[in-house]
Amino acid sequence: MTVVVEEFAKKHGFVKDTVLEVLAELGVEVEGGAFEADADALDLIIEELKGRVAPAADVLVLAPGRTPRDLAAAMGKPDKDVLKTLMTKVKVMATLTTTLADDVAEKLAAELGFKVRWEQPEAAKPAAKAAKPSGPAKPGEKSLRPPVVTILGHVDHGKTSLLDYIRKTNVVSREHGGITQHIGAYQVNLKEGTITFLDTPGHAAFTAMRARGAQVTDIAVLVVAADDGIMPQTIEAISHAKNADVPIIVAVNKIDKPGANPDRVLQQLTQYELIPEAYGGEVITCPVSALTGEGVPQLLEMILLQAEVLELKADPRGALEGVVIEAKLDKGRGPVATVLVEEGTLHVGDVVVIGRTWGKLKAMTDWQGERLKLAGPSTPVEILGLAEVPMAGDTMEPAKDEREAREVTTARQQAERVRALTSPKRKVSLKDIRKMGEEDTVKDLNLIVKADVQGSVEAVKGLLDKIENEEVNVRVIHTGVGSITESDILLASAAHAIVVGFNVKPEGGAKIEAERQKIEIRTYTIIYELIEDIEAAVKGMLEPKFEEQYHGTVEVRMVFKLTKAGKVAGSHCTDGKITRNSSVRVRRDKEIVFEGKLASVRNVKEDVREIIAGQDCGLKFDGWEDFKDGDLIEAYELVQVN
Ligand code: GDP
Repeated sequence: MTVVVEEFAKKHGFVKDTVLEVLAELGVEVEGGAFEADADALDLIIEELKGRVAPAADVLVLAPGRTPRDLAAAMGKPDKDVLKTLMTKVKVMATLTTTLADDVAEKLAAELGFKVRWEQPEAAKPAAKAAKPSGPAKPGEKSLRPPVVTILGHVDHGKTSLLDYIRKTNVVSREHGGITQHIGAYQVNLKEGTITFLDTPGHAAFTAMRARGAQVTDIAVLVVAADDGIMPQTIEAISHAKNADVPIIVAVNKIDKPGANPDRVLQQLTQYELIPEAYGGEVITCPVSALTGEGVPQLLEMILLQAEVLELKADPRGALEGVVIEAKLDKGRGPVATVLVEEGTLHVGDVVVIGRTWGKLKAMTDWQGERLKLAGPSTPVEILGLAEVPMAGDTMEPAKDEREAREVTTARQQAERVRALTSPKRKVSLKDIRKMGEEDTVKDLNLIVKADVQGSVEAVKGLLDKIENEEVNVRVIHTGVGSITESDILLASAAHAIVVGFNVKPEGGAKIEAERQKIEIRTYTIIYELIEDIEAAVKGMLEPKFEEQYHGTVEVRMVFKLTKAGKVAGSHCTDGKITRNSSVRVRRDKEIVFEGKLASVRNVKEDVREIIAGQDCGLKFDGWEDFKDGDLIEAYELVQVN
């Protein structure tokens, strides 16, 4: 059927220009103000347009510090009506140009049937908004982006509670009809800025992503319960964050509990090279309660402060880059993925390649279920339209068109199959460390040490720390008491480490994971065997260095010519020794006439291994027969010294 653009826009309540824009994007031709479409196509166009008209009509997006006149303009209402409502209903006396407190503005808007969403300062705005073409960023210019935060810590110390508290308080103040959804990440909009939280807590997820090459976290919040103190998984989390080189902010949680002892936690932290500011160090610590919310605003403030120090920047107009946070197959909607945009801006309709799949994005929603048209750096969005379900940690890149995306994807899948068949993913093993040293100039030997008791852990670590070597750095990146777990394997995979167990064995799951990921696990029951092995590996990692070790001097006294065996140098050893394996340097009047190896050493007619000072011998050289009486032979050996 033929549809007139103007009528269509009016009927469905869209702006005509937006309709034209969408039609152009969808490739629908408009002629004489009308276009052709069947019922299905119309549905699609309407669906697309609905995605564009965010925010909903009853939401005002305002910068803080507005006047009644600003509000009137935003709501499309006469100035005097707005002023009257302010005085009579909100009971605030003001003129049209008085700057209203934000809560007063919210009340005034509410009286007139509107909700207010406060705009963030430019720098901290969710980049989706900052990335509009009219925005301040010029192409190639990086602007500040929100920090991406992961919450780590021991089980039951309150990671989930803290994430929930932050999310809920954020929804109460900002929600405008959306339904909070779990998409694997969410954003908190504060007056001072925006923070993106990855809401799968725990270091297993954090490191699993890293093992796949995706480092998305900018700041780690380490939750430590004040009534429990530092526990094994806290230590693991510290190792994981440190290994990823991510700054740590410590949230000392559960301060509302009677048994809470935050000071003890601060003291314990010092044992793990996390020196709190209170102790003269640099680690930010915040006492909080995820139950009552006490201290949480300060924690958020500290996160933003840390982000400021980090100067996290991205270019909303740059080439698109992103990473998958979560993905699943939804019965009704097909493959669904949450992606975090890292660079550039993602638009509905974009064609992207993600890992080994691709898609033309049909729709995009944020964690509050709000449909978005575009999403900029640090914005997590759920996307629809992928051909297959990608994996967490997969990277997202733009494609020119569907054809290119399909081609890239097919090529990748093929390459992957070939790789899987031909070469298992190579990881570190003690044996091939030397090869790695040569090929990749890997000069760090990362170790994870697990032992049965704390005393052993310390003893092993102490001895390993003593292995000194100028070229290879032995780094114990994590230690722990207890058997080798899957989490250890994940860390090993991300950090290219070897797992060393002393009096402990890997758990079943860890064993399987280690085999899958080709991680070497070495277990020992004798501490010196452990140390010797590592020392040997360290030596293997070095470029071999050789030094000449003097064996002895031999003088040629008479040259024999044997019919069968050719020429033999009848010689006398004057000093030290000469062996079958010696390297030799032959001098004649100070000039070197031959350098090389021997072919045989004989005493009378017997082949011998060595001749010592005072003995005679017959020497043959490897590929050289031009010796003369009086030649001096210097015998030596090249010895590896490292
Ligand atoms: P997670 O395993 O680290 O995610 O810990 P959870 O968030 O599941 O919390 C474990 C338990 O501690 C739950 O019963 C929470 O209600 C409780 N909890 C968490 N934070 C606090 C807090 O600040 N104060 C108190 N009193 N209890 C808390």
